[in-house]
Amino acid sequence: EAERTRKPSWLRARMPGGERFEQVKRNVHEHRLSTVCEESHCPNMGECWNNGTATIMVMGSVCTRACRFCAVDTGNPKGWLDQDEPENTAHSVEMMGLRYIVLTSVDRDDLDDFGAGHYADCVRAIKRRTPHVAVEALTPDFDNINEHVETVVDSGLEVFAQNVETVERLTERVRDPRAGYKKTLDVLEHAKKHNPKVITKTSLMLGLGETEEEILETMDDLRAIGVDIVTFGQYLQPTRNHLPVERWVTPEEFEWYREKGLEKGFLEVPSGPMVRSSYRADRVFEKNNLG
Ligand code: SF4
Ligand code: SF4
Repeated sequence: EAERTRKPSWLRARMPGGERFEQVKRNVHEHRLSTVCEESHCPNMGECWNNGTATIMVMGSVCTRACRFCAVDTGNPKGWLDQDEPENTAHSVEMMGLRYIVLTSVDRDDLDDFGAGHYADCVRAIKRRTPHVAVEALTPDFDNINEHVETVVDSGLEVFAQNVETVERLTERVRDPRAGYKKTLDVLEHAKKHNPKVITKTSLMLGLGETEEEILETMDDLRAIGVDIVTFGQYLQPTRNHLPVERWVTPEEFEWYREKGLEKGFLEVPSGPMVRSSYRADRVFEKNNLG
């Protein structure tokens, strides 16, 4: 057990650094901004911030779902939303001096539109204030209601993401019962059909007991509905009450999945032990001249 829970050497945090990193950090602290990067002690902060990429969470910190890998608190926010959030978020993006912002959120099954309208307001506010900043929205599934997916896709964002998190067989074990493998695929498929210019993206955590074959099958399912980017990272158990890590996937295996993914036609496949869905999202974007 101890062997299995001890982290391998390749998961040691990297030292943050770089000129732009220092500048973003100064701005964040001076204006007391909150980012997922800092709050989750993300090991990629040096790299991401140094390249002008950060992640901000919107729609509160209490989720109506309870996925078994996720450390976010579960509860019922009873329709609460911060009406100033779109403007404040846009202000934060401007203050930080970013080039690429990832917006993420909790699931809001308590809201009539599952939060789609508020999400879109946040994107629009950012685009009004800083039109040069690329926006990626890592969204909830909006209970698969096409109208809500469209609301977000039409907000002016560049990248629309919904995470499949794991392979089909493990979905029930890993994700909240209201989430679904097919449900996520349908959301991504609809987003792409609705606006083919929008980049679609999804992420998987590895080390939950999935097989190589299942990972390759998942990539095929994703390509079949036009998903452009898939990311692979190591699952880490946030507390002892969460799902255990079944296996530490080696850096070589991650690299192999990246190559397989590129062969299958994904635009980019960020894949590595410390990759998060938002890891260096700007690079993927710029490499493909999508701006
Ligand atoms: Fe965490 Fe998202 Fe699942 Fe909510 S829906 S518990 S925020 S992973
Ligand atoms: Fe922030 Fe995501 Fe980069 Fe981590 S991977 S530093 S959370 S943008």
